[in-house]
Amino acid sequence: MKKTIALVAHDHKKQELIDWASQYKTVLAKHDLVATGTTGKLVSETLSIEVKRFKSGPLGGDQQIGALIAEQALDLLIFFWDPLNPAPHDPDVKALLRLCSVWNVPVACSEATADLVITSPLFESESHQRKIPRYER
Ligand code: PGA
Repeated sequence: MKKTIALVAHDHKKQELIDWASQYKTVLAKHDLVATGTTGKLVSETLSIEVKRFKSGPLGGDQQIGALIAEQALDLLIFFWDPLNPAPHDPDVKALLRLCSVWNVPVACSEATADLVITSPLFESESHQRKIPRYER
């Protein structure tokens, strides 16, 4: 089943994400990929793969991905954020991580977690359905 996967990496983490995505290109190519602007450009050029690009993270790209989460249009976020350098859009970063928890969307913030998620038998299993919280009750 085709999923929508978002890729986001802060500047000092971009190479790590590109290396990771290269390793899993065959899997990623089976799904719809979206990304913040610069991350998406680098991934699509390096891997020769189609990536829908939103605005750059500091210009609202994180929030555009957040909107996908709120609309139940995202299945997985690979988010290599930088824990060692402050970013001008730190509030957006926090908001994005928060929305993943609000809507029970899997998010991998490190290579090790991303490895485990992308290779999980549950990831491509049709029988596994992410539970979508119901807050209106
Ligand atoms: P970028 O944005 O891919 O446009 O660099 C990532 C981010 O900083 O959130």
